[in-house]
Amino acid sequence: MVVGESGLGKSTLVNSLFLTDLYPERHVPSAAEKIEQTVKIDASTVEIEERGVKLRLTVVDTPGFGDSLNSVDCFKPIIQYIDEQFERYLNDESGLNRRHIVDNRVHCCFYFINPSGHGLKPLDVAFMKAVHHKVNIVPVLAKADTLTQIEVNNLKKKILDQIDEQGIRIYPLPDCDSDEDEDYKEQCRQLKGAVPFAVVGANTIIEVKGRKVRGRMYPWGVVEVENPEHCDFIKLRTMLITHMQDLQEVTQETHYENFRAEKLASGGAGKPRSGKPAVPPPRMENGGGDMSDKERELRQKEEELRRMQERLARMQAEIESKKPQHIQNGELKSQDV
Ligand code: GDP
Repeated sequence: MVVGESGLGKSTLVNSLFLTDLYPERHVPSAAEKIEQTVKIDASTVEIEERGVKLRLTVVDTPGFGDSLNSVDCFKPIIQYIDEQFERYLNDESGLNRRHIVDNRVHCCFYFINPSGHGLKPLDVAFMKAVHHKVNIVPVLAKADTLTQIEVNNLKKKILDQIDEQGIRIYPLPDCDSDEDEDYKEQCRQLKGAVPFAVVGANTIIEVKGRKVRGRMYPWGVVEVENPEHCDFIKLRTMLITHMQDLQEVTQETHYENFRAEKLASGGAGKPRSGKPAVPPPRMENGGGDMSDKERELRQKEEELRRMQERLARMQAEIESKKPQHIQNGELKSQDV
């Protein structure tokens, strides 16, 4: 899910990430229309292929966020959408056909922060606080090309301090195990150090010194979206691919459990599972406290599987990043993608 004030480059970034044009018939409302505007929920499906493995992702855009004169209620439709997906999952889980549940829960929310402000705005704080127990928030510093490197670093620090002061819980990128290889450990360190990811989006392909790059051309030069010296776009994409499994697990173990606990507390849970705690369990890497042996064994197996899947995703991402540009992007046919 992508959330943030309109005009911060959400649609452009999503198109850059998935190399598609997800919003060909987009209508940008006028100022008059925005006054009364409510937030829309716009879900589209993209298929991405990683080394022959097809992944179906649903991208949820939230146009209208922060647009109207009174933005107090603008995140209600978003919360409602997230809850509806949990509700649907809960119902499916309690139904007969539990093997074929389509998981449409929101596993990740990129929250776009305005680069021209002085850190977080009240709306940013209010939104993140309203959803941090429901979804994995990944803060993103939008339009990073409008800031100098020093400004980016200062703003990132300020945003992190504010997140901390306000008690906002963003998605904690997982620590890697001590037995992982050095390259992976370094990648983890870099990804963690890049939060909030300073991104640049562009839908145009520009030729720079004989190379075709996705970028933004200014009179003084070209900002390359996929150049790690220019912005954190590649880091954001790597994070999404390598931690996709972990994002799903945190959703399952923390946010979904929160939802179920709330439901139980209000007496409306679809099917309470006996013995389950009403508070979210802490994330367990090596098995937890009061579990039966069987449960512990199962957890360890799941953990092993998760690590294997992460390793695989990592290898795929590495191979992907070593491919020449034109292969990574598929055949880019037109100048404007
Ligand atoms: P949305 O309303 O958040 O979906 O924003 P859009 O993706 O429609 O972008 C709004 C405007 O900002 C468009 O003119 C984009 O070309 C421009 N834009 C998008 N991404 C960037 C960026 O990273 N840097 C700069 N400088 N402009 C951007």
